[in-house]
Amino acid sequence: MALAERSLGYDTRFGRGFISGVFAVALAALGFGGVLCLRFPSFLTTPDARALYPLDLVRFLIHLHLVAGFGLAVLSIVLSRRALLGLSGVGLVVAATLLGGTRALGLDWFLLNILVLAMLFVPLERLFARLPSQPIFRPGWATDLAHFAVSHLFVQVTVLLTLVPAAIFFAWAVHPAVQHAVAAQPALLQFVEIVLVADLSEYAVHRLFHAVPFLWRFHAVHHSTETMDWLASSRIHLVDAVVTRALAFVPLYVLGFSTGPVYAYLVFVSFHAIFVHANVRFRFGILERIVGTPKFHHWHHATTPVDKNFAIHLPVIDRVFGTYWLPAQFPPAYGIAGSPVPRRYAAQLVWPFRRP
Ligand SMILES: [Zn+2]
Ligand SMILES: [Zn+2]
Repeated sequence: MALAERSLGYDTRFGRGFISGVFAVALAALGFGGVLCLRFPSFLTTPDARALYPLDLVRFLIHLHLVAGFGLAVLSIVLSRRALLGLSGVGLVVAATLLGGTRALGLDWFLLNILVLAMLFVPLERLFARLPSQPIFRPGWATDLAHFAVSHLFVQVTVLLTLVPAAIFFAWAVHPAVQHAVAAQPALLQFVEIVLVADLSEYAVHRLFHAVPFLWRFHAVHHSTETMDWLASSRIHLVDAVVTRALAFVPLYVLGFSTGPVYAYLVFVSFHAIFVHANVRFRFGILERIVGTPKFHHWHHATTPVDKNFAIHLPVIDRVFGTYWLPAQFPPAYGIAGSPVPRRYAAQLVWPFRRP
C-alpha cells in the first residue's frame, strides 16, 4: 500500500474504486447535463441543432449514461469504502432523476425507495435507538446498500420470477368457485387472511432454508450481518428472495385474493420486514406476543440460540410449532458464530454456489 499512488485519498490502482469512481462522476455528469438540456432546451441548445438530433436516441443515451454512472458509483463505494466519488456520482444521478431524467431499469424505483426509507428510518433510529452508539455508516453498510440497489434495479425481473412460477406450476390447483368466494369477502378480511396465509408459507419456506444445507448457504447471507438496522433487511441473496417470495405467492394465487388486498399486503410486508430489522428499542407490551416486532426478529438474528422466530408477522405461528423465543431483553450479539460468509457484495452473490 505504501507504494500505491494516491489521489483524493484513493488508492489509484485498478480494482480499488478510484477508476470506477472517476468514470462514475464523468458519466453521471454527462447524463445530468443531458437532462438539463432536455428540461431547458431554450437556454441550453440552439433550435438548429435540436432539429438534427433524434430525440428518442438522445433520451436513450442519457439513460445509458445515468445507469452506467450509477452502477460504477456503487462499484466504487463497494471497492474502496471511500464514498467521495461514488456519492458524487449517485448525487448527480439523483438530481437528474428528480429533474425527470430517467426511467431506465428500476432506477427511479431504487432512488425513490432509498430516499423515502432513509428519511423515515434514519431519524427513527436516531430518536429511538436501541444501540445509540451504532453509527448510520456501520460496518457492512456498503454491502447492504449494494443488495438494496441490485434488488431494486432489477425489480421487473424479480417480480416476474416471483409471480410466473405460480401460474405455470399451480394452474391445476385453481378452482373458480373457491376463488370467487375468496374474492367476494370484505377487503379487510381478505387482508388479514393474506397476512396469515403468506406468513404460514413464509414460515415453512424459511425453516426449509435453515434446515437444508444447500439452501442455508443462500440464506446465511441474510444472517451474516452483525449489525441490525433498517438497511440490514436488504441483505438477502437474490435466490433466497425470489424462491421465498415465489413460494409464498403460490397460496395467494391459488386462493384468488382480490388485487386490492394483495397490493395492500405488499406495501405492508415491505415496511414491516424492514421495521423488524431496525435499530429501535420500541416495546409493545402484550402485542409483542401477537405481532412481529423488532425484538422478536432480532432474536432470529441472534448468534445464540439459533433457529428461533421464523415467522415475520405472526409470532403465534412459532408458538404453535415450538420455535418461539422472546426473552425480556434484546440479544447481546448478532450473526453466525464463525461465519464463513464473505463480506463484500459480489462475493456474497457467488459464494453459495461454490462447493462448501
Ligand atoms: Zn432466517
Ligand atoms: Zn432478518
